[in-house]
Amino acid sequence: MGDPAQTLKDAVQRLSCKKGLRVVAASPVYRSLPVGPQDQPPYLNAVLELRVTLSPHALLASFLGVENEFGRVRDIRWGPRTLDLDILTFDECVIDEPGLTIPHVHMLGRPFVLVPLADLRPCYNHPTDRRTYQDLAKLVGREGLDRVDLLLLPTYTSQD
Ligand code: ATP
Ligand code: CA
Ligand code: CA
Repeated sequence: MGDPAQTLKDAVQRLSCKKGLRVVAASPVYRSLPVGPQDQPPYLNAVLELRVTLSPHALLASFLGVENEFGRVRDIRWGPRTLDLDILTFDECVIDEPGLTIPHVHMLGRPFVLVPLADLRPCYNHPTDRRTYQDLAKLVGREGLDRVDLLLLPTYTSQD
């Protein structure tokens, strides 16, 4: 909801200011149709690579804090929101707890996750599935996805 392009840019800046967290790379941005209720505007999606000195739980807390700063309200499942920050993977960590699942439980079925992830890190392997993001993105296809002319960082390759 709101101005999603501006929100994404502001969110990257906001994340960059957080202690223990550095944004090192950003994928291109894609517009996609909503998951769940269809009577809501399309979404803009991107994948970031972060370097963190935080635990996965502390990173999630930090994400939820930033979502709140952007006025996120949780009511309808998969309903409209200003900003959604999910942890996709965290090194090779596997976590399966009520409040935190890593790798993200739905990421393998979602073009709007796999396509930008494959743009960013085509040859990385999914931590448990083991296939590369390039292969996984090919399999899932790009139906309903449109690339948007928006740069979240000066370049979307690693700034290391
Ligand atoms: P989806 O999980 O299908 O992408 P969503 O992002 O809309 O749905 P939210 O309402 O944002 O779901 O999150 C619900 C809860 O999911 C969060 O409060 C958080 O505790 C939990 N959660 C579990 N695993 C993760 C993860 N890897 N990243 C972010 N949140 C997670
Ligand atoms: Ca989500
Ligand atoms: Ca979420």
